[in-house]
Amino acid sequence: MNKIISGPCSIESRYQFEKTLIDLLKLGVSNIRAGVWKPRTNQGEFEGLGEDALKIIKEMKINYNFNSFIEVANKEQIELAEKYNIDCFWIGSRTVCNPFSIKEIVTSIKDKNKLILIKNPMNYDINLWVGAFNRFIKNGFTNVKPIFRGFNEVGIYRNQPYFECLEVLKKEFNFKNNDFIIDVSHIAGDRKYLKELINKSKEFGYDNFIIETHYNPTEALTDSKQQIKPNELNEYLNSEKTLDFERNLIDDIDNKIVSLLKKRLEVTNEIGIIKSRLNIEVLDEQRKKEVLKKYADFNSVYEEIHNISVKNQLKINI
Ligand code: PEP
Ligand code: MN
Repeated sequence: MNKIISGPCSIESRYQFEKTLIDLLKLGVSNIRAGVWKPRTNQGEFEGLGEDALKIIKEMKINYNFNSFIEVANKEQIELAEKYNIDCFWIGSRTVCNPFSIKEIVTSIKDKNKLILIKNPMNYDINLWVGAFNRFIKNGFTNVKPIFRGFNEVGIYRNQPYFECLEVLKKEFNFKNNDFIIDVSHIAGDRKYLKELINKSKEFGYDNFIIETHYNPTEALTDSKQQIKPNELNEYLNSEKTLDFERNLIDDIDNKIVSLLKKRLEVTNEIGIIKSRLNIEVLDEQRKKEVLKKYADFNSVYEEIHNISVKNQLKINI
């Protein structure tokens, strides 16, 4: 049985949070995420409602039954979140990159049995993630679990999901697949990738998800492109692989292949200039054989790539 944590990227207003919350509760989703303080790249962007958002959560708790999940990044935020009885905290990806912050957080949280979720760091440095877990565990925390949100690298998605890296955490802390929560929204960066990422996670054996929802995603003040409406959740969670989504993936891959081929041609042109200067034959049969042998599965493709390079080099004359 999978666990779903859902809710808006940020609490923007009482109306927005309550409307989204009601729709989620109707679906049986009662683990509700909500951004209170948002780490923004640029000054002037919406930074969350802060304490006012905590007041909204507290007020909603009077009428609705749900668990509240928020991100905390420092002592001041933790003190406020504790004052408003927030149920669970998560540590954001940017914060995990900074051991000073982790130390401050570990010493500030009072309830060591509280569920604490730790996101992987932005960059591919698993040791930072492992180190953050160790700090919590060594300081007596009993319920600390990982959220995987991918790595901030150039690629198809906003953050690239190298699921293989989760093996390190399983080994270090004896986590099972079911202990992981996959934040498919922040991996995707765009709802058009959500279904394929949910399916991909399931293929790797993970089926607990964070999915950002907003009653009207297009108007969201943060992460508008990646949020979906609560009533779309089931459709996203139970989608079959579709032709359109797979084709979308192919288009992205083709774009990359073509830009790499262009780059390859630039390099082979440089080689052509060197050959011409050294008065060396353009076609080197031995080298051709070696290249084709390396990529036997794509022999004819490589033959053509090689032909194009040779044709271009033959045009060079210095
Ligand atoms: C978030 O969950 O709202 C968030 C900011 O995510 P991350 O720390 O993964 O970027
Ligand atoms: Mn977000």
